Amino acid sequence: MFSMMIGFQDYGQRAIQAAKYIGQGFTVTLDHLNRLPTTIQYPYEKLIPSERFRGRIHFEFDKCIACEVCVRVCPINLPVVDWQLIKNIRKKQLKSYSIDFGVCIFCGNCVEYCPTNCLSMTEEYELSTYDRHELNYDQMSLGRLPLSVSQDSAIQTIYALNYLSMGVMERHSNDRTITHNIN
Ligand code: SF4
Ligand code: SF4
Repeated sequence: MFSMMIGFQDYGQRAIQAAKYIGQGFTVTLDHLNRLPTTIQYPYEKLIPSERFRGRIHFEFDKCIACEVCVRVCPINLPVVDWQLIKNIRKKQLKSYSIDFGVCIFCGNCVEYCPTNCLSMTEEYELSTYDRHELNYDQMSLGRLPLSVSQDSAIQTIYALNYLSMGVMERHSNDRTITHNIN
């Protein structure tokens, strides 16, 4: 009889311990219910890049003076600047310009040092292709204006900073969630 009571007492203590562990597990689950998700349903939802996002480079042919500064400051000498010298006016004339985004590391050096500001980083980040040679953009492709995800009414756009944990990064003063629903 005494050993049976000891057994019941032991069983009760273990049941209480198990309930405590389950309670701790639920506390963690409830804690995560208050948090924002860290993933999005791409491609139906897309992140709006931050203001200083370094996406596909935009190039303005008319502003380029073929100085090749962008080539010299590029860590891999990537931009290809083809020019000819117009002897009578002793001036370079740009013939073609290209950047291979299959190799570019989007460091932004070329944009930073271009003396005529004919290069700029855009918010375009969807560069995937089946053929890597298609990533070699000539002046025509580089001159195309970027497609803004916020202008695409078929998708839901989400500001990236909403998805960062609190305290990881300060939000911009104009930080907000923009939604364009399919309906
Ligand atoms: S640095 Fe600018 S102006 Fe000079 S070649 Fe490069 S893109 Fe053209
Ligand atoms: S972003 Fe960097 S790696 Fe890409 S072309 Fe410009 S300097 Fe070169």
